[in-house]
Amino acid sequence: MPRYEYRCRTCGDTFELSRPMAESAAPAACPAGHDDTVKLLSAVAVGGTANAPAPRAGGGGGGGGCCGGGCCG
Ligand SMILES: [Zn+2]
Repeated sequence: MPRYEYRCRTCGDTFELSRPMAESAAPAACPAGHDDTVKLLSAVAVGGTANAPAPRAGGGGGGGGCCGGGCCG
């Protein structure tokens, strides 16, 4: 189920919800219960906030000789 990020215009909080695509545009109340929220384009980092790292496929690198040296980020 895709995750969508929303921002509350009442308290300024941002939060994510997992919901079906069909409900992506449905109203979403913030954790504090406010209804005045807007859906962000996607759950990408906005404003330079250090979010949790995105899950990467596998854990053993991409098969190149680069990973492990620090150039893969
Ligand atoms: Zn709120």
